[in-house]
Amino acid sequence: MKQILWFRRDLRIIDNKILEKASNEVMPIFIFDKNILEKLDIEDKRVTYIYDAVISLKKSLQSFGLDLYIFFDTPKNVFSKLKNEGFDEVLCSCDFDSYSIKRDKEISKIIPLKRYLDSFLINPRKNLKKDGTPYKVFTPFYKSLSWLSDSDKIGEATINPNLKLYKYEKETPSLEKLGFKRAYLPEFLKKSPQDRLDDFKEKVQEYEKNRDIFYKDGTSNLGIDLRFGTLSPRMIFNEIKKSNKKNSEVFIRQLFWREFYNYILYHFPKSENENWNGLEISWSENEEDFQKWCEGKTGVPIVDAAMIHFNKTGMMHNRLRMIVSSFLCKNLLISWKKGEQYFAKKLLDYDASSNIGSWQWAASTGADSVPYFRIFNPYLQSAKFDKETIFIKSVIPELKDVDAKLIHTEGALKNKYIRPIVDIKYSRDRAISIFKEAKNARV
Ligand SMILES: Cc1cc2nc3c(=O)[nH]c(=O)nc-3n(C[C@H](O)[C@H](O)[C@H](O)COP(=O)(O)OP(=O)(O)OC[C@H]3O[C@@H](n4cnc5c(N)ncnc54)[C@H](O)[C@@H]3O)c2cc1C
Repeated sequence: MKQILWFRRDLRIIDNKILEKASNEVMPIFIFDKNILEKLDIEDKRVTYIYDAVISLKKSLQSFGLDLYIFFDTPKNVFSKLKNEGFDEVLCSCDFDSYSIKRDKEISKIIPLKRYLDSFLINPRKNLKKDGTPYKVFTPFYKSLSWLSDSDKIGEATINPNLKLYKYEKETPSLEKLGFKRAYLPEFLKKSPQDRLDDFKEKVQEYEKNRDIFYKDGTSNLGIDLRFGTLSPRMIFNEIKKSNKKNSEVFIRQLFWREFYNYILYHFPKSENENWNGLEISWSENEEDFQKWCEGKTGVPIVDAAMIHFNKTGMMHNRLRMIVSSFLCKNLLISWKKGEQYFAKKLLDYDASSNIGSWQWAASTGADSVPYFRIFNPYLQSAKFDKETIFIKSVIPELKDVDAKLIHTEGALKNKYIRPIVDIKYSRDRAISIFKEAKNARV
């Protein structure tokens, strides 16, 4: 049996299903997919991160007497060539977004493909309601999985010790050869994935208390590891449960939001582009407003600070994501899809299902989303979660000497800052009336 082990978003050797399921002679590969890369900016941070993770995976595999052959091409071209080497099958992990499903279908016509559940805890095809339809609300979905979320340990995969390398001549392309420049990555990404997980084990006790305070480092920062599989969700689950069972519930619940959005996108693939709940909203096409939102020039300090920080680092705290998405979809009345695409371009932990699900949540168009009349007031949010304006002032130096209270008060900054592009009360009322109308039109 000759197998190709196709690493994609499972860039690790610990708890990796394909390394367990592989049987004998194997050729581990990674493909820098031209179809995906050609759409990205030259200094895309994700590519730098993946590049380093792939090189590190190659070294780990070499320490097991294996290797990783790195291609820069389309998957179709790579497998068409490798077919001539006489491989029996390709082993890989399941990916559920629309591009991946199409890609895998195409590849399985070239060489048979065996896919294993590895990047998620549950298979979205399973776990349906009693009537055979998918869950649409998070809480019952989560409750139905209590057998898993309440367990202490989820079985992990172990590497098959009997694997033999199929040798192949292949030069590793440099980052520059792929057409990219090395991008600046935030400090915490210079640590190893295991060190990040260990750091979080120390913090999980305080997670519930600190998770909304964006100027504190209160969350796990494991989004990128989950996205590219530098850590497995099972391993994160197990280690967090083991280290702090009593205080892990709130965190474990968040891991299941990730499962929920993957499940929703799998069952409702149209929600990638269309309002999941079918509401027809007359979104604003104001390109100038949109550009100001992207650049962090809206005149609303918390929104601007979040966006400026995001543009620089590729990172945004969950609470800030909720504030800026609500501001875009409700106060500016701009379609969630535009915000979703902007995040997709830059977000380090970008994951189609969580991004689409969360944007539709903020826009009140998604599964179990925020009710349309509950609109975040960005000034109240900053007063509540950044009372001393620590975060805002760290990003916007011109506000350094301004009293925090003025920063949290709409209209109080006068000539000290950019004039806000929208009035909060007016835009809130406008959104509520438009959403109400859209809801009534549907009934
Ligand atoms: C508009 C918007 C867009 C988002 N886009 C993404 C995205 O592209 N990719 C992404 O992974 N998350 C996304 N999220 C969810 C959440 O903001 C991030 O998962 C979180 O900020 C990552 O930081 P962390 O790992 O420190 O989170 P932690 O709080 O430590 O959470 C641990 C893990 O649980 C999962 N998680 C936590 N919150 C959520 C959530 N609300 N929905 C789904 N999964 C969650 C993530 O995998 C996260 O890494 C988005 C949220 C919003 C409001």
